[in-house]
Amino acid sequence: MMSKPSILDARAFDALVVGAGFAGSVCARELADAGWRVLVVDARPHIGGNAFDTRDAAGLLIHPYGPHIFHTNGKRIFEYLSRFTHWRFYEHRVLAQVDGALYPIPINRTTINRLYGLNLDEAGVEAFLAARRTQRLPARTSEDVVLNSVGHDLCEKFFRGYTRKQWGLDLSELAAGVAARIPTRCNDDDRYFTDDFQFMPAEGYTRMFERMLDHPNIEVRTGVRFQRDHTLPPRRKTIYTGPIDAYFDYCYGKLPYRSLRFEHEHLPDVETFQPTGTVNYPNDHAYTRITEFKHLTGERAPGTSIVREYPSAEGDPFYPIPRPENEALYQRYKALAEQLPDVCFVGRLAQYRYYNMDQVVGAALALCNRLLDRQREHTA
Ligand code: FAD
Ligand code: UDP
Repeated sequence: MMSKPSILDARAFDALVVGAGFAGSVCARELADAGWRVLVVDARPHIGGNAFDTRDAAGLLIHPYGPHIFHTNGKRIFEYLSRFTHWRFYEHRVLAQVDGALYPIPINRTTINRLYGLNLDEAGVEAFLAARRTQRLPARTSEDVVLNSVGHDLCEKFFRGYTRKQWGLDLSELAAGVAARIPTRCNDDDRYFTDDFQFMPAEGYTRMFERMLDHPNIEVRTGVRFQRDHTLPPRRKTIYTGPIDAYFDYCYGKLPYRSLRFEHEHLPDVETFQPTGTVNYPNDHAYTRITEFKHLTGERAPGTSIVREYPSAEGDPFYPIPRPENEALYQRYKALAEQLPDVCFVGRLAQYRYYNMDQVVGAALALCNRLLDRQREHTA
């Protein structure tokens, strides 16, 4: 008789962590620091999940799974990660190409004045937008959010086309939270994020993950895909950070995730390709945006490396798609997950949440606090 496939040797671990991205790596480190022996497996040949970075053939640091900019208001989260990295101060700026010209996005005073040939002050911009807003209350969809804040014309120029490309859906088919990620400003602040902490890991994300996972109680195996029917050693907990529907063999059907195809390019004779880290293309081209990594990393070189993002229905699951019917399906999987007391589901794919990196770190730290509190209660 064929024995079941085994990804593990006979050694017993206290926890098996599936996935070496932010969710899995933070959990592994927290539990290891508390004395647990932890095995981390990841299907990919590297650690870091989607935040993995590496050098391209020209030697420049790039993000193979798309641009990752760290930003948070969570001092505790920033301090936690600071154990594993130094930081480079970096405030991300984005321009959007509309009718052949580049404008700041989020929409601000400069955007309005340049686009409409005006010279408004802050109060003038506020009045300009107030006259164009269409009240859609309560704001249920992303279309409601955009119309409520900037009205029809700016919605068509900056949001509807980008959203259609990115999600394959109309703004009106997406939950309010998607477009609500992008604020509208009446002043000249042209930063993409306004969080208290905006930094890039000085030596890159992968180096930060290496330090996080470098612990005598942690063993990491990459290139290993976890399946529920694998023979596993006895362990207290499984921390699962992959897609929740995959864990349950899609028993209720597939949860929709949006994917991307990344087209990386090195331009050996171009010192600077574009004026900001990212340029968005809401209405032109099949890609949504181009990011030039030198802006993010601060590296200097005679050439430059860029990435174009082409959204796609097929491929690795990158984005949960926030809309009510998907949330309802996720809740059914979550109910199954809750029946498994020894398996914890955490992270962007396992919780089906449009989480930024800092939110994943927060969710992982909260989970480990709960696990370790429970352990202390039992041993008290
Ligand atoms: P992941 O990073 O997806 O890690 C999950 C890991 O589990 C993967 O490595 C996968 O290989 C592994 N896995 C899954 N199933 C299995 C299995 N069965 N067996 C073994 N391994 C398995 N956030 C920001 O804060 N700022 C940004 O600028 C930003 N930009 C982004 C840009 C893009 C294009 C994308 C897609 C996301 C971006 N994010 C950004 C979000 C950020 O990537 C996530 O919040 C974070 O990386 C999620 O971490 P995670 O550990 O939950 O999941
Ligand atoms: N968005 C848009 N136009 C833009 C930028 C963003 O319509 O120029 C909308 C779009 O729906 C996008 C969402 O806002 O998916 C969130 O944008 P964000 O830049 O936060 O996306 P991410 O970096 O997560 O891909």
